[in-house]
Amino acid sequence: MKALFKSTAEPGLTLAEAPIPEPDVNDVLIKVIKTSICGTDLHIYNWDPWARRTIRPPMIIGHEFVGRVATVGSNVKGFQPGALVTGEGHLVCGHCRNCLAGRRHLCKETRGVGVNRDGAFAEYLAIPASNVWHADPSIATDIISCFDPLGNAVHTALTYDLLGEDVLITGAGPIGCMAAAVARHAGARHIVVTDINPYRLDLARKLGATEVVNPEEESIAETVRRLGMKEGFDVGLEMSGNSRALNDMIGSMFHGGKIALLGILESNTAIDWNKVIFNGLTLRGIYGRQMYETWYKMTVMIQTGLDISPLITHHFHYTEFAQAFALMRSGRSGKIILDWADDQEA
Ligand code: NAD
Ligand code: ZN
Repeated sequence: MKALFKSTAEPGLTLAEAPIPEPDVNDVLIKVIKTSICGTDLHIYNWDPWARRTIRPPMIIGHEFVGRVATVGSNVKGFQPGALVTGEGHLVCGHCRNCLAGRRHLCKETRGVGVNRDGAFAEYLAIPASNVWHADPSIATDIISCFDPLGNAVHTALTYDLLGEDVLITGAGPIGCMAAAVARHAGARHIVVTDINPYRLDLARKLGATEVVNPEEESIAETVRRLGMKEGFDVGLEMSGNSRALNDMIGSMFHGGKIALLGILESNTAIDWNKVIFNGLTLRGIYGRQMYETWYKMTVMIQTGLDISPLITHHFHYTEFAQAFALMRSGRSGKIILDWADDQEA
């Protein structure tokens, strides 16, 4: 099969032949139809300090995908060849306290598909059946290929009650934009999204932001005044990983407001702790998605009108991966999809 490898410890990726993975007794072998490119894949492509610390070449990368079941291991029940599936990219240990309690998203031994082991940017992927999600075939495969990052957006956005609340989202990357759509669907009032990239702010508006702010041009405080909000945001969703954005958020919250942190910050990021303390803020870190309550919620929200399709801005054949990654790096894209199907499967 063809697969996209991080083949050596340097920037770039290599398209090469690889053996079709042999599914273990508990695995499902999936014929990949589409994959989408995540910020993590770009870090791996660029070979930045995080990637250098984390990735062990040679390895097939990628973890956002949709495909069809090809074969299943002898222990696997409930998956038939041809079924439309996607999958959870976090492989959990199954033995730690959280796994045993059913809180698998908090497993202390999580390993990432396409990060710590071979991934989905290939014609075939084998993962444990416990990581495979039956996709609703009435949902477009473009959308299903984005279920992993949509899951980040949904898990973060639904951390706190949003009905009637004023929500601040910092960072209009794909996940921030999807979170805006989820907040809209969940009944928030004002959904203010910030970014320093005008292309991304346009996308946020298309996805359901009621107001967008470029903090290099206008302060969040001015926006709050313009909207007639009196006491700041009830809920903050930090989705930029930028320290200034986080500090802007902490300074813009209602007393007693709640913040969910998804963006990955520099480990030495400083905040004004006295604002957290005197304003009674709650901060919660978010990793991954809940297995599988988030997957259920994503599915039913899409079935009831959540539309993230404006976020999918580009398609490429997998052989055009270099162009796709260059575009991703430019910041002038939403989600970019790589097509892997050899037939006309859409
Ligand atoms: P992204 O990099 O595409 O988006 C981040 C956005 O933040 C960019 O559009 C950037 O222009 C914007 N930004 C930069 N400085 C800003 C500022 N001062 N104010 C407002 N916006 C600013 O990332 P993404 O794929 O949308 O993911 C969002 C974040 O979540 C990233 O930090 C990513 O690493 C992280 N992430 C975390 C998890 C997890 O499990 N915790 C999972 C996936 C992604
Ligand atoms: Zn565990």
